Amino acid sequence: MEKRCKVCGKLKPFSDFYRMAEMKDGHRNDCKACNLAAKAARYKADPAPAIARAKRWQEENRDRHLANQRGRRERPDVKARNRDGHLRRKFGITQERYAELLAAQGGGCAVCRKKPKPGRSLHVDHDHATGAVRGLLCFSDNAALGHLAEDEVRIDALLGYLLDHDPVAVAIGDIESVDIYETA
Ligand SMILES: [Zn+2]
Ligand SMILES: [Zn+2]
Repeated sequence: MEKRCKVCGKLKPFSDFYRMAEMKDGHRNDCKACNLAAKAARYKADPAPAIARAKRWQEENRDRHLANQRGRRERPDVKARNRDGHLRRKFGITQERYAELLAAQGGGCAVCRKKPKPGRSLHVDHDHATGAVRGLLCFSDNAALGHLAEDEVRIDALLGYLLDHDPVAVAIGDIESVDIYETA
């Protein structure tokens, strides 16, 4: 069973026409493609009525609207787009740049090499003074760097402390000298 579209004039199967109970054959006279194109053109010319209609529907169907939104957020394409927007806004890098950095780091944290869990990503570490992206770090290493205020001297002193201070010697009181990190 076919029908000719009143708009594009093409002969198409009934499944290509939206249903409309008041029509003799139960279908609209314009095909789905033409109907959607007209809708898109109307929206482009004046989006206000469509936005108002959507808003009204969302208010009258709160539970379904929230369920739809939750479902949408979980979609891989939406997740990727949101992640891309987040990266651009916060760090000024694209999803592609992130992927490049990650590949250059062998797929893991730049410090401990640990790979992020599936569906999670590493932190984009940036120099707080210049805002430039330095690399990708796991949560722990990013937090550690933050706690140490990105201070190279202090980080070096912490490593020196770990290497120099034998816990056993401290326990028995055998300390000759203690290096204190200078904060000034
Ligand atoms: Zn058509
Ligand atoms: Zn790490």
